[in-house]
Amino acid sequence: MLQLRPNCELCDCDLPPDSDAARICSYECTYCASCVETVLHNVCPTCGGGFVPRPIRPQTAWRPELKLGLQNHPVSETRRHSKFTRDDIDAHVAKIREIPPEQR
Ligand SMILES: [Zn+2]
Ligand SMILES: [Zn+2]
Repeated sequence: MLQLRPNCELCDCDLPPDSDAARICSYECTYCASCVETVLHNVCPTCGGGFVPRPIRPQTAWRPELKLGLQNHPVSETRRHSKFTRDDIDAHVAKIREIPPEQR
């Protein structure tokens, strides 16, 4: 199940589960759309992969017998922060950004 992380790992802005600004890589590293566009240029600082919009988990358990939705699978409480320095991230991004994600 996808972990719904509560914040951007770079600028630390809140990314609530209904946010349309949350972006994730295939490892669920989570950033805001602004950081992905203006700083990361679609390069994950950790794995080097691209980002996609994070799907919004429904609030309602539409099929109660399956026990899905936010009430059954709430957001993660753990705020995460990239362990890399900004200089390190910039160098990493510069090396990778021109390669399309499907060729990385
Ligand atoms: Zn951000
Ligand atoms: Zn990643």
